[in-house]
Amino acid sequence: MTKLPDLNDIAAKVTHCHNCNLYKTATNPVPGEGNPEAEVMFIGEAPGYFEDLQGRPFVGQAGKLLDKLLQSIKLSREEVFICNMLRHRPPENRDPLPEEIKACEVFLDDQIKIINPKVIVTLGKFAMDHFVKNGQISRDHGVPKVVGSYIIYPIYHPAAALRSTQVLMILRRDFLRIPKVISGEIKPEDQAPSKKKDEKQLLMFS
Ligand code: SF4
Repeated sequence: MTKLPDLNDIAAKVTHCHNCNLYKTATNPVPGEGNPEAEVMFIGEAPGYFEDLQGRPFVGQAGKLLDKLLQSIKLSREEVFICNMLRHRPPENRDPLPEEIKACEVFLDDQIKIINPKVIVTLGKFAMDHFVKNGQISRDHGVPKVVGSYIIYPIYHPAAALRSTQVLMILRRDFLRIPKVISGEIKPEDQAPSKKKDEKQLLMFS
């Protein structure tokens, strides 16, 4: 099995990365973690306060919610792989800049190639934007799509669900569909934006 050393190699590169300025203000790099043989990868936005302190993804409040959502589909962290678009925390948790995402995406792309998951679950707008052209999270959440050789399943970010009970309800519902997306029972559409029309008012959430 060569996946783990290759993933460790990426983590080492993240640790020494100066491709953008975020390493200067961060406490720790957060390369991502999980099962090298995972069938499903979860990709968030960027490390927050607690992730920065611990060097691990999704360990704050949003991470606790993610753990509960994983339990709801009988998966544990040990069975999946979890990472973010950015591997160092943006100051004050500001939104990632386009140039930061561009500078950092090589690590994500390499991790995906190594793990080769059945399904990539994007959490929120920034991760979805990496895969889905002209996507809108309020429209495209919960609809798996074929992008290249991967199935992308966009859903809301758990942090957005902590701010809105309506988003939380939607996120729970979308999460429960993940096993069927993995098994193929729910078929993906191609990359064209879905016709889903609802929840326009939630456009502001990611
Ligand atoms: S955020 Fe990404 S690109 Fe920027 S320094 Fe960290 S690892 Fe490198």
